[in-house]
Amino acid sequence: MVSYKKLGLVNTKKMFAKAVKGGYAIPAFNFNTMEQMQAIIQAAVETKSPVIMQVSKGARKYANPTILRYMAEGAVQYAKELGCKKPQIVLHLDHGDSYETCKSCIDSGFSSVMIDGSSLPFKENIKLTKKVVNYAHKHDVTVEAELGVLAGVEDEVSAAESHYTKPEEVIEFATKTGCDSLAISIGTSHGAYKFTAAQCTRDPKTGKLVPPPLAFDVLKAIEKKLPGFPIVLHGSSSVPQDCVDTINKYGGKLPDAVGIPEEQLRKAAKSAVCKINIDSDSRLAMTAAIRKHFAEYPGHFDPRQYLTPAREAMKEMYIHKIVKVLGSNNKL
Ligand SMILES: [Zn+2]
Repeated sequence: MVSYKKLGLVNTKKMFAKAVKGGYAIPAFNFNTMEQMQAIIQAAVETKSPVIMQVSKGARKYANPTILRYMAEGAVQYAKELGCKKPQIVLHLDHGDSYETCKSCIDSGFSSVMIDGSSLPFKENIKLTKKVVNYAHKHDVTVEAELGVLAGVEDEVSAAESHYTKPEEVIEFATKTGCDSLAISIGTSHGAYKFTAAQCTRDPKTGKLVPPPLAFDVLKAIEKKLPGFPIVLHGSSSVPQDCVDTINKYGGKLPDAVGIPEEQLRKAAKSAVCKINIDSDSRLAMTAAIRKHFAEYPGHFDPRQYLTPAREAMKEMYIHKIVKVLGSNNKL
């Protein structure tokens, strides 16, 4: 048993309470490579932002759970080395699929876990979430639960269509499970293809797809039922069109990739939404930089040559999100 406290990590409790009160959201960036981790920490330190580093089941499979855990431990030391005296870094399990996965993360130094029972019937979701909460709270680890189903694909989590969270269910769910935060479905979606062309309108000037707006009325109704309770948005990448254009220009093929407009996320961050998950944007920034580098320097074959601009592009993207979208800068 390794406690996250020994590793210098923190749970989400105080962080979320402050964010809800302050009208901003904490960035939750997924990572599975060293370059992503470095870029996340550099961005968080430079902007003086708390940060959630999250690991999905797919990331654990790709990088190995032990390696990821030590990377997160290294991240805390790295932040200090970069001049941050008291970094606030959460190591979070994204989309935990079972009690056992959550327990193994808690036992190996995670400070926060998500148990995703959103595909289960309501009562079973409560039962599973409560079981995880009971174990997690014994170790002062915070738990994110989910009600409502998001569309799209994220690693091994996939759903054909979304179902908005039902506001009339949230009080019973939060009370019976004791969860610390709740991921809801209000129209965000996983992956770089969040909406089909049929769901969107097309901007006549640019020819780009314009996605449907988020269901802010559902968010408002949930906030009314659970005042001040930390709400989480998954699938909240914006799929920057300059990245998509760069990828397509240099041999990629991402037709009609579209995300959540940043002004909508900005609006959400000012509400009870206090954690916003961003994964695809980092993948796109990295891929765009690498494709461009390969095209411009066909003779390069040292990974450091193309991973350096990739890391820089991700860092810039993270800083942009923190300062211009979530507002979590200068909150340490
Ligand atoms: Zn998710």
